[in-house]
Amino acid sequence: GAKQAGRNRSCRFQAAMNERVARRMSLESRLRGALGRGEFALAYQPKQDIATGRLTGFEALLRWSGAEGPVPPDVFVPILEDSGLILPVGAWVIDTVCMQIRAWGDAGMPRVPVAINLSARQFQQENLVDVILAAADGAGISPAALEFELTESMLMTDPAAAEAAMHRLKAAGIGLSIDDFGTGYSSLSYLKRFPLDALKIDRAFVRDLPGDSEDLAITRAVIALAHSLNLRTIAEGVEDETQLASLRENGCDEIQGYLYGRPMAAADCLKRFGPLMEMAV
Ligand code: C2E
Ligand code: MG
Ligand code: MG
Ligand code: MG
Repeated sequence: GAKQAGRNRSCRFQAAMNERVARRMSLESRLRGALGRGEFALAYQPKQDIATGRLTGFEALLRWSGAEGPVPPDVFVPILEDSGLILPVGAWVIDTVCMQIRAWGDAGMPRVPVAINLSARQFQQENLVDVILAAADGAGISPAALEFELTESMLMTDPAAAEAAMHRLKAAGIGLSIDDFGTGYSSLSYLKRFPLDALKIDRAFVRDLPGDSEDLAITRAVIALAHSLNLRTIAEGVEDETQLASLRENGCDEIQGYLYGRPMAAADCLKRFGPLMEMAV
């Protein structure tokens, strides 16, 4: 009867829950040793200036491939965050990016900044600026070669503390942008107070451009807002020429997405954007 059906449903629910919890615990325990086993890597995705067509920088994106193969960041980054592992792993990202910037510079790569995604836990860390400055110093690069991507929720939970941290980063010459802009909640008065350089328009608003009139209206509004605050705009997830044409027409400054380049290994970035090798005769 109905009672039995309800019990079965609740058993199935319980089993599914247990499976999810077990999977998550297993991922977390594998993540605990991942740094030591050298299982993390970084991919770098280029950004392009729409007006000039030139490379403006890269974004470092974390990759994890353990014994059971690659796991997407949307799955493992939240586990790193909840477990606190994001602090050592985040420090590894910062160190690795600094060393990569140094190696690229030595190889004659154009000097463009590399952006790093920060988690709330890292941003709240008292000694974050020291960690960053030590990493830059250790690699022999200027901290001005770095940018950080923050999210709206990171800025709005404790705006006064966020503002203070941002000013310390800014004082070191580090660029700051808001990632996935439009998906969270920002107070416009705070946007004006924060020492920001750019807003990244979330991929969700770019995907159906220019056909979706609401997405188009949002994109235009974000670009107008950014420009009135003297911020650049970077559209995420640009995959085709039609989206690019619409963004250009509406005054967007930069694009990032599969159209210009997928996230790729550092060596591939050098092959594509580095100096042309002289052929030996
Ligand atoms: P995000 O910072 O917004 O990064 C953009 C995501 O969009 C990346 O996914 C990128 O591969 C993907 N993407 C770029 N262009 C296109 C496109 O044209 N089409 C489509 N469909 N996708 C595109 P990914 O690498 O899976 O990273 C997901 C998220 O994980 C990132 O979103 C970021 O929030 C987080 N993440 C990645 N690396 C790190 C890290 O080192 N630290 C922290 N805290 N978070 C990270
Ligand atoms: Mg990002
Ligand atoms: Mg983003
Ligand atoms: Mg996004």
